[in-house]
Amino acid sequence: MAKKSERAVKNVYEIAQTQLQRAADKLGLEPRLHLILSQPKNELIINFPVRMDDGKYQLFKGYRIQHNDILGPYKGGIRYHPEVHLDEVKALAAWMTWKCALLEIPFGGAKGGVKFDPRAHSEAELERITRRFTHALGNNIGPNYDIPAPDMGTNAQTMVWMMDTYMNLGPRDAKNTLRGVVTGKSVTSGGSPGRREATGQGLVYAVQEWAEETSFSLDGSTFSVQGYGNVGSHAAALLARLGGIMIAVQDHTGSIRNIEGINAKRLGRYVAENGGVKGYPGAAAVDKTEFFSTECDIFIPAALESQITAETAPLMKCKLVAEGANGPTDLDGERILAEKGVTILPDILANAGGVTVSYFEWLQNRRAEAWSRTEVEQRLHRMVVQAYRTMRRIAREHGVDNRTAAYMHSLERIQAVYRERGIFP
Ligand code: NAD
Repeated sequence: MAKKSERAVKNVYEIAQTQLQRAADKLGLEPRLHLILSQPKNELIINFPVRMDDGKYQLFKGYRIQHNDILGPYKGGIRYHPEVHLDEVKALAAWMTWKCALLEIPFGGAKGGVKFDPRAHSEAELERITRRFTHALGNNIGPNYDIPAPDMGTNAQTMVWMMDTYMNLGPRDAKNTLRGVVTGKSVTSGGSPGRREATGQGLVYAVQEWAEETSFSLDGSTFSVQGYGNVGSHAAALLARLGGIMIAVQDHTGSIRNIEGINAKRLGRYVAENGGVKGYPGAAAVDKTEFFSTECDIFIPAALESQITAETAPLMKCKLVAEGANGPTDLDGERILAEKGVTILPDILANAGGVTVSYFEWLQNRRAEAWSRTEVEQRLHRMVVQAYRTMRRIAREHGVDNRTAAYMHSLERIQAVYRERGIFP
């Protein structure tokens, strides 16, 4: 089969495949394993009806894609977004496999989603959509089989509804052993301290390692953020605590800029009240081009896939891109950033804090324990630092970029297990 020119690749699953191909070639991954890993194990698509507040019924399309479980139960978030589609969820599921393998967490990779705009629905409708979807998933999820978590458009409340629905489907005497079916729950309902901030915190730990390695001072550095939800807002507040100055922010409502600095916490409160950054009084409105052209030290994409592209990458003037989002840089974007000498901290490292603390939550649920926030943060720090250093060592030894290096470590671990276990029958 003729290889498609990389520049022509726009489909997010094909981008994920190309990233895999590059690392597989460098590593010399066994062809049979490349074959297995190039497609998810299971693809589940569910069309389910839900009664709306006005009494009418609407049909929703939900996905759960289970990419690989050789290292442990399937694990990955649930996204509510109008653009959710099969290839996107497949790419996100594969990225979860590599992420868990890189962080050396005993989980595989999965992802799910429902194609709709959660902002267009009442709380009561969101609850019914979530519970009906969970019911339809049935035993395709489970604390020892496949463990969802929050992603774009979902949060701790969504996870608590999922948990409650799943628990009510199980046998009465085992109910309380099922709490670990989802992670990212509220602390009151069995979540872990630090899970809400975990993805942003993990990103900042990775940025701190990069700063130390390159003798860069974060105190007084400037940064821009795309997406001011769970990941973007917590990463911003934590970087600000280290002396970083946030100068530009973009979300689905628009872009804002203030080179004197935008207060991260204050903006967080404004977004919670107003639904987006648009109209924030402490900054000026700018357009997309101005947002991407704003010179800064660190750029944090924390929204959707394929945002750093042939169109936007040429505009960017930064030293580091720390990928809070999954798949924010497409193949053109990656090439252009490399030509400019911009370092990328790839998604499977930079946003792995979420799944790492999800793992801690799952462990606490299994053991009926409650860890302190300090313990969670210390463990998270250790795991992110180790993954960062492993990635950098491989990058140096093989002369490859950070993403390829991170993939190589993941694939090496997965290959070792397949070699020992063999492929059934
Ligand atoms: P969220 O729903 O809390 O926030 C999403 C943000 O993206 C919002 O600010 C929204 O306005 C913005 N956005 C949406 N469409 C946009 C557009 N077209 N242009 C600019 N901004 C847009 O979601 P989140 O949980 O913060 O997830 C963000 C990204 O981080 C996703 O790629 C997700 O897969 C990834 N991620 C999340 C977690 C987690 O723990 N939540 C973990 C790892 C990775």
